[in-house]
Amino acid sequence: MKYINEIIEGIKSLLSGMLVTLKACFEKPITLQYPDERPEIPLRFRGRLVMPVDIEKNKVRCIACMMCVNICPNKSLSCEKETTPDGKPIPYPKKYEYNLGSCLFCNLCVEICPVQAIIMSDEYELSSYSNNFIMDLLKENYQISGNKGKLFKNKLKEV
Ligand code: SF4
Ligand code: SF4
Repeated sequence: MKYINEIIEGIKSLLSGMLVTLKACFEKPITLQYPDERPEIPLRFRGRLVMPVDIEKNKVRCIACMMCVNICPNKSLSCEKETTPDGKPIPYPKKYEYNLGSCLFCNLCVEICPVQAIIMSDEYELSSYSNNFIMDLLKENYQISGNKGKLFKNKLKEV
């Protein structure tokens, strides 16, 4: 009798497993044919850091306050202040470098920035043949668009 019960239990468990497989056959696939198909990036996604150009001002918003540089736990940021011809520092960056290779994507720099000058973008294809991941964010002249662009615009309203 014990033997027959075990066979019945075995058949039940086999059928329940097949039922799960059968259900999955009729569900919408969640896999994408990457790179032809691209995922929709959630707003909270943290891609690499960018310093977008503020369209209204036609320049970046950074005031070279160094708060992001000081808070970065991995020393991935460096910033140099712009100066007047007679050498006086002005609140604008002359150089702003970001080391993608050591960034932890922690978002602390974005959170601390008092003028919302930087944002984690939706860029996720970050592999490279080069071993130099230092990027000059000022030179990029980054034009932010899409959902992250809308998020950036909304953040500016908070400043
Ligand atoms: S996201 Fe974090 S680790 Fe990356 S640059 Fe900003 S503070 Fe540094
Ligand atoms: S990005 Fe923001 S926090 Fe960093 S130096 Fe510029 S203004 Fe300051």
